[in-house]
Amino acid sequence: MVNKGMTTMAIKQINLKKVYTAIYHEKETSKLQLVQSLQMGLSTVSQNLKELEEQGLILKTGYLESTGGRRAHLITINKQAKTSVGLGILKDCIHLVHVNLYGEVIHRQTFLIPYKDEKSYYQAVGELTQQFIEKHQMNKENLLGVSIAIQGIISSDGESVSYGPILHNDQMKRSTLANFIPYPCRLAHDSKAAAYLELWHHQTLDSAILLLLNENLGGAIMTNRHVHNGLQMRSGIIEHLSLDKNGPLCYCGSRGCLETYCSMHALIEQTQMEIPYFFEKLRQNDPTCQSIWKNYLTHLAEAIRNITVVIDGVIIISGHLAPYFTQEDITFILNQLSQIAPFPLTHEQIILGIEGEYTSAIGAALYNITDFLNTTMI
Ligand SMILES: [Zn+2]
Repeated sequence: MVNKGMTTMAIKQINLKKVYTAIYHEKETSKLQLVQSLQMGLSTVSQNLKELEEQGLILKTGYLESTGGRRAHLITINKQAKTSVGLGILKDCIHLVHVNLYGEVIHRQTFLIPYKDEKSYYQAVGELTQQFIEKHQMNKENLLGVSIAIQGIISSDGESVSYGPILHNDQMKRSTLANFIPYPCRLAHDSKAAAYLELWHHQTLDSAILLLLNENLGGAIMTNRHVHNGLQMRSGIIEHLSLDKNGPLCYCGSRGCLETYCSMHALIEQTQMEIPYFFEKLRQNDPTCQSIWKNYLTHLAEAIRNITVVIDGVIIISGHLAPYFTQEDITFILNQLSQIAPFPLTHEQIILGIEGEYTSAIGAALYNITDFLNTTMI
């Protein structure tokens, strides 16, 4: 009897998840469409819809076009039944984003605040996060948590930063920040969070290499739709790929790392210009800017050549600089590759990220969304 009872419960749960999953994927549907697509009885679908509506997970948002008879309710998921906040910590600022169950960004904001591995800093970041939540009147009960994307390699238990030479945050612990943020908190390596966002956006992506073109460079490798962590969470640190052992000194102690040629920091050093102004001059065909940019793209192509020899995947150009790239820039990289790479790439094999400087914060927020969807979908 106990077993039979549990089985009935399990079947009920499975049906509920099936109905929710179908609505999630179809985006807009009706009771009859669900009956047809799920091959489920009308009364079972009705029961499950009632339950999902009571839980606040779905909405009846209007009516379908009438084809005679009673008009059918249009059913959608409640996109804001659960939401997530992503916090991106950088050297000079923080990015905050608020994301719904479709991974859409509802709010985004940047605060200028220089990083310090001190209690006062974490307290201030906690206050700004809470201000962000208050200002946008988020439903706190629906908030799944705050995910923090930070430069630095995260320990495999997710509790601390294990390598952080840029922010000098080697000792930073998740719990320190969590003390000032009264929601479930998690730490994520910024470039891996960025990769996670791209996997979310590109549902058919299998193998890929992400180049995160932020103030400091980041990278990530994806295979079989998973971000590769490696034995000590160090996979994909493409920023330290060495292009010239006699090149400029990198913060890691080596010389000629990709970081020293292709980070935004390196670009600013060379141009002595703010990034928007540099690109404005570049697109007006300023010869100095053109020469610096061609040099930049040439180094990027060289790195892509070396990485694609190891990982046969799509290249994703992401992060702060990505929105400034044009199709001509991609063509330039492809032309370079056709001269130096054993296997040339095609236009389709280079993807441009679209979320710019907010990429990592959004990716981090999506971890919470995925966890929730894994419990409600099948
Ligand atoms: Zn380096």
